[in-house]
Amino acid sequence: MENLRIGTGFDVHEFAEGRKLILGGVEIDSPLGLKGHSDADVLTHAVMDSLLGPSGIGDIGLLFPDTDERYRNISSVMLLREVRLLLEDRGISVINIDSVVICEQPKICPYTKGMKANIADALALDSVDRVGIKGTTSEGLGFTGKGEGIAAYAASLIMI
Ligand code: MG
Repeated sequence: MENLRIGTGFDVHEFAEGRKLILGGVEIDSPLGLKGHSDADVLTHAVMDSLLGPSGIGDIGLLFPDTDERYRNISSVMLLREVRLLLEDRGISVINIDSVVICEQPKICPYTKGMKANIADALALDSVDRVGIKGTTSEGLGFTGKGEGIAAYAASLIMI
């Protein structure tokens, strides 16, 4: 048990016109995408931070700064693969991830199977059941409720 560590991640991105909406590496059918330097995959960003924190590596802002042109419009699932390599270098394995995506629209349920598969694949997990993804609304309250953006929370359990 002493080699288990828990991590959390949180991220928010603002809706924008003329952008694709990518969540968990899946392109979602939506009139609006998310604003960001990378592909603005808010879910994958939260997942990466939930892994980097307990690993002692830092966070995605440190690893993949938004001032670096190499990361412009980059697939966040590609960055998640880089995170996996960093974890592997340190002998760290991922036990499970759970996450929540908060928005009024679009409904993410039809896409969660693909998102789980992408995240499990990027992390070389042996089962998609190790990745939980739930969608919820904030009942019309706050910036997610007003449709201004999407928020995502993630929790991870890792073994060092
Ligand atoms: Mg982000």
